[in-house]
Amino acid sequence: MRLTIIGTGYVGIVSAACFSEFGHVVTCVDIDEKRIAEYNAGRVPIFEPGLQDLIRRNVKGERLSFTTDLAEGVKGAEAVFIAVGTPSRRGDGHADLSYVFAAARDLATVCDEGCVIVNKSTVPVGTASEVEAIIAEVAPGKQLHVASNPEFLREGSAIEDFQRPDRVVVGVSSDYAKRVLAAIYRPLFLRETPLLFTDCRTAELIKYAANAFLSVKIAFINEIADLCESVGADVKGVAKGIGMDRRIGNKFLNPGPGYGGSCFPKDTLALLRTAEQANAKLRIVDATVEANDERKKEMARRVVTACGGSVEGKTIAVLGLTFKPNTDDMRDAPSLVVIPELQAAGALVRAYDPEGRSAAEAMLDGVEFVDNAYRAVDGAAAVVLMTEWNEFRALNLPRIRELLAEPLFIDLRNVYEVDEMAKAGFHYLSIGRGPVLPMEQLRRSAEVIA
Ligand code: NAD
Repeated sequence: MRLTIIGTGYVGIVSAACFSEFGHVVTCVDIDEKRIAEYNAGRVPIFEPGLQDLIRRNVKGERLSFTTDLAEGVKGAEAVFIAVGTPSRRGDGHADLSYVFAAARDLATVCDEGCVIVNKSTVPVGTASEVEAIIAEVAPGKQLHVASNPEFLREGSAIEDFQRPDRVVVGVSSDYAKRVLAAIYRPLFLRETPLLFTDCRTAELIKYAANAFLSVKIAFINEIADLCESVGADVKGVAKGIGMDRRIGNKFLNPGPGYGGSCFPKDTLALLRTAEQANAKLRIVDATVEANDERKKEMARRVVTACGGSVEGKTIAVLGLTFKPNTDDMRDAPSLVVIPELQAAGALVRAYDPEGRSAAEAMLDGVEFVDNAYRAVDGAAAVVLMTEWNEFRALNLPRIRELLAEPLFIDLRNVYEVDEMAKAGFHYLSIGRGPVLPMEQLRRSAEVIA
């Protein structure tokens, strides 16, 4: 089949590469000329494991191409997927749909009659209807179908997620659109992936409800981790114990510095705005957003507390800046809150991230960026493990210990074991696993940062 993907960010390019791997002929269109030039030169402007090889193979097989020319890009396409950004609208948390609507407006005039326009971007309930209205206004009488196909891939394992998803959700309002989408996803159906067909509004809400639920799980285990610290329990054991219950499941139960990334923060906010407009209460999601915002600041307080109540003039080494490993995406990463809080408390921050440096440099002022973990910790008063990249899982601990001015290791991802770190001579603090910090000390550092 002939498909077009509008937008070549994380979702667009992964979808395009995987659809072409299924055997479809895919054209990618982006308004960002630099980005398209990079792809056409054989370079991939984002970091995603396995993506470069997949693109190369399918470009060579003439199933994948890139252009900035929309009219050219949609020629002969049976379906066009909109995969443009839907960031938080500045100030109010609503999803900014201007990119989606602009794409829909342009597509209405250039798409062939009968084409299915599929929203792959994460969009609030009712967006498919709005896209239909735009088409009716721009190209009255033209027969175009609108469908909703939210994407659930995770950065860092995006290709595997796309090719082996738990399910594919498709919202349609015509039998024709259903047949086209079923044909596009036939290779997955043959692998027994469930295809869930529903109406567009339901499909749109499934995406937000899924992300909100996962955010709740993370915020929940973070609060349980705090309780573990106060009562001397081990959160890893608690997570394992509850995760064995299939009604709960063992995923998304790793405590840490709060969720971040390009989806959960903006999608939970957008869902709250949708609920407000609909006069429905989403108290649990509301509490989750608040708890998660507070959590990031709390992580900075912990560092200050661990440093004896002050970080004034001290160098703090930070390992990992991206919101999770295996991506260069810095959007809403916890490091973007923790680091400025530490700087405001007088710390000098030296940081290393395997892939996120260039994005981080544009978002973090006054940070000294270095090229490896050992340079980061050299002479530092403490090291904070912020993102659990694989290369931080087997650090040369004696060397780190020797390089640090103080043997203080703050592990916000529970990568290491408490005993192992004690043996290695560290004062080791992790999440939800002792030692218990005296409340009085916590309060004092809260005052320093507030
Ligand atoms: P992104 O910001 O990385 O990329 C968006 C791309 O769209 C950019 O390259 C931009 O230049 C291009 N674009 C904007 N307007 C355009 C237009 N009119 N024509 C052509 N190209 C245009 O976005 P992303 O992270 O890939 O996310 C895309 C959507 O998918 C969002 O709604 C997001 O919420 C959703 N989503 C993202 C993820 C993820 O992990 N990143 C996962 C699931 C769903």
